[in-house]
Amino acid sequence: MDIRELITKSSKEQREALLNKEVSAVELAEAVYSQVEAVDEKIGAYNSLTKDYAIETAKKVDEKIQKGEEIAPLAGIPLALKDNINLKSYPTTASSKILANFVSPYDATVTQKLKSNLIPIIGKANMDEFAMGSSNENSATKIVHNPWNLNKVPGGSSGGSAAAVAAGEATVALGSDTGGSIRLPASYCGLVGLKPTYGRVSRYGLIAFASSLDQIGPITRTVEDAALLLNVISGHDEKDSTSLNQVAPDFTKDLRNDLKGVKIGYVKELCSEGLTPEVSSAIQNALNTYKEMGAELVEISLPLIKYSIAVYYVVATAEASSNLARFDGVKYGYRAKDVDTLYDMYVKTRAQGFGDEVKRRIMLGTYALSSGYYDAYYKKAQQLRRLVKNDFDNAFSKVDVLLSPTCPHTAFDIGSKVEDPLSMYLTDIATITANLAGIPAMNIPVGLDSTGMPIGLQLQANCLNETKLLNVAFKLEEAVQFNYSTPSMTLV
Ligand code: GLN
Repeated sequence: MDIRELITKSSKEQREALLNKEVSAVELAEAVYSQVEAVDEKIGAYNSLTKDYAIETAKKVDEKIQKGEEIAPLAGIPLALKDNINLKSYPTTASSKILANFVSPYDATVTQKLKSNLIPIIGKANMDEFAMGSSNENSATKIVHNPWNLNKVPGGSSGGSAAAVAAGEATVALGSDTGGSIRLPASYCGLVGLKPTYGRVSRYGLIAFASSLDQIGPITRTVEDAALLLNVISGHDEKDSTSLNQVAPDFTKDLRNDLKGVKIGYVKELCSEGLTPEVSSAIQNALNTYKEMGAELVEISLPLIKYSIAVYYVVATAEASSNLARFDGVKYGYRAKDVDTLYDMYVKTRAQGFGDEVKRRIMLGTYALSSGYYDAYYKKAQQLRRLVKNDFDNAFSKVDVLLSPTCPHTAFDIGSKVEDPLSMYLTDIATITANLAGIPAMNIPVGLDSTGMPIGLQLQANCLNETKLLNVAFKLEEAVQFNYSTPSMTLV
């Protein structure tokens, strides 16, 4: 197979080519770097490249193959790492000016796992600053363009991770998801994106946005690749006190199970109003497909969804205001010059280092946590969060998996929502409840709309039930046969 074609395939096909010695891991990585060189000026997926590391890792894979030694399932498969996850000795900027010169002094736990599986990391993927955003337009580095149509946003905040995979600049990627940041870009870029159960994957070495919501997860071209990457990154980690002390199963083992008798609930509040007609008919088609496979369809109501954006923007901004207090010009990154006093240094560093959206969140969060307003906002939001979780518990006593759109519409034009933060926040209406409840959720691409942009569907399952989630996703993928090749993949 032509290597330029190979870089646009799933890890499974690439692994076969590696094991059959049709191509070496170094050649594969080099081919991906040629693609980066050819397209990334137009896409903007990477903040920085980590070529020395990638090639050194690929060489180790090739040595093992030469010696006939076994290699891990994703060994040699090129990966894009979101730029809020630490890779020792390389920059980690979270796409913020305040960390522009920061070099990671240690590896995140997920990075260590990538290393021990010999997965070459191609570079650090662009993102919304500190993962705050839905379109990647909040990056202090540069805008990311959607590989399906360069005038559209790729979704955020893991827009660089998704764009890299959709443009052939990596085969798989890691993103982080606090309110939808893996699923939304996966949806806008025609990819699979999985936010695991809270606690399934260690957050040690991930730059914290909202610690009770953040999770790291895979963005891939296929469901099987997502399961394989989840196998690599999950598991207990004593360095993260919120990590679950659970042995993770092999997430690939039940992918092909048939769906007879599986109960799929479609979420009434998300499947009816406010969807574009094309997203609406994609949902209907998916439901019909599942019915033909023998699944049972049940309508489920999650009445508290209407409060979820309000709850999220209190909880997430409160936690962000606290987490981002550490960026003060003393310990990390940027420090303002020409200052007279210590106070002046703090104020100028933060005023110059943070972008507008980050400042907006810090102010909102500080306000919600201040003594006069704590009970009215933060405490009330936490109480509602509990009720949202109760709604899900109730739903999962009736069904195995919940289905909805990932977003009511497909990717929008760059620049069209930047002046209106509220309309930007509303793009997350379907995704943020999974973070509030800690449950696993994923995006599956199901087709294109009339403008040629991908439509994504969201599946959610109860805590720790990724196996069922992936099984239900896999069966739909098999039926839909979505073609994830983008115009940008063939630019070379
Ligand atoms: N779009 C949401 C926000 O801006 C979610 C971001 C995320 O998941 N990191 O907060």
